[in-house]
Amino acid sequence: MSGRILVVDDIATNRLILRAKLSSAYFEVLLADCGAQALEMALTELPDMILLDVMMPDMDGYQVCQTLKSRPETAHIPVIMVTAANSTEEKIRGLDAGADDFLSKPIHDFTLFARVRNLMRVKMMFDELKLRETTSQELGLGAFLEDHSFGTDETGRVMLATKTPKQGEDWATCIRSRLPFETTAGSDEAEIFAMARENTPDVFIVCQHLANGGDGLRLVSNLHANPATRQSAIILVVEDNEFETAGKGLELGASDYIHAPFDPNEMVARLRSQMRRKKYSDRLRSNVRDGLKMAVIDPLTGLYNRRYATQHMQRIIEHSKESGLPYAVMMMDLDRFKSVNDTYGHDAGDHVLKEFARRLQENLRGIDLVARLGGEEFLVVMPDTGPSEVEFAAERLRRAINDAEFTINNTRSIPVTVSIGVAFGGPADENPGLLIQHADEALYQSKSSGRNRVTYFAAAA
Ligand SMILES: [Mg+2]
Repeated sequence: MSGRILVVDDIATNRLILRAKLSSAYFEVLLADCGAQALEMALTELPDMILLDVMMPDMDGYQVCQTLKSRPETAHIPVIMVTAANSTEEKIRGLDAGADDFLSKPIHDFTLFARVRNLMRVKMMFDELKLRETTSQELGLGAFLEDHSFGTDETGRVMLATKTPKQGEDWATCIRSRLPFETTAGSDEAEIFAMARENTPDVFIVCQHLANGGDGLRLVSNLHANPATRQSAIILVVEDNEFETAGKGLELGASDYIHAPFDPNEMVARLRSQMRRKKYSDRLRSNVRDGLKMAVIDPLTGLYNRRYATQHMQRIIEHSKESGLPYAVMMMDLDRFKSVNDTYGHDAGDHVLKEFARRLQENLRGIDLVARLGGEEFLVVMPDTGPSEVEFAAERLRRAINDAEFTINNTRSIPVTVSIGVAFGGPADENPGLLIQHADEALYQSKSSGRNRVTYFAAAA
């Protein structure tokens, strides 16, 4: 893993020591000697991470951090505050200013690399998600992240895994009194794992030792490997000076660690920070999901669109080559649809299209592809389907539209019919466009010979 780290410190020796250490681990290091320069370089260089000294003459680290986190261009860059002493008060001020983590001088090598590598992983995950979000925006109609702040922590769910039930209750009471999070607690490893999968929290707080010989590290590893819980943040609580356990925990999937006994204020600050980060990644993830969905789904009918249909036909063709089985391609077009719009208005027209889509889906199999190509034009592709089966299916579809009138505005019923053209494909066919064209020619035949009927390409030729 490599990445670019901006080191900010007013004392030259400190900058050089950190540069030497980080370069030895193959990180690229940039240097700034004051707050103003740090803010400028953060914007122009866009580093992957910032190590920020707290005590500086022009502008202290808290101010620099707050400014970084308030600017959309730099809000997502992780900031590690470097504090003079092991002062809990300074740590909490740092986390409140939006810092993602902190280190105390003199900097312990193990802690430095554990914190840096852990945040670098988080940064890369965010970069990947942001990239996918951008792709889905370019592909279709993906929503933009309107609020670029790092995320809120106003609601959330926390689950505690502690050594004793008493400890769990005490910590839960403490968290509930300071933060608006729904907090549950347990101390049995298997029980917590089961509870977590049932009702997944945003953040876990897991102690190194659990009740009845339970192992916190094993729990971290299981939570991180399980699909239901792998997006949750995990704060590992390790015994004082257990640096190796902390490092192992981060390797296994913990997002943060804290040494016990701890100041409750520090735990609260770390919990808030993890909650913000979790909410931010949830938002990115759901934007990506919605964007991808919107790029392939027709919003009116909920059917697939042309883009998806073209891709999917390619897969059906490949499948046919493997299985040796034929498939059917149906083009269909609502008869005299323009007059529905003209007579009853576009809302009525939209309603007819939706109801038509619903009847199509109701009368086809789950494996059939149903897509709206545009306007009143639809495509159905039925894999593993020969002539006698498609004849049955096409006729059933035609009747499903013809036999019951469409109700519009709950008052009026209007007759709707559909014309269908069918072509067959098999293992030897390569070109989805040609098959669609054949089905389209058959559809034209249906239209010109009176509508409300099914025509087969072979018969038309
Ligand atoms: Mg300083």
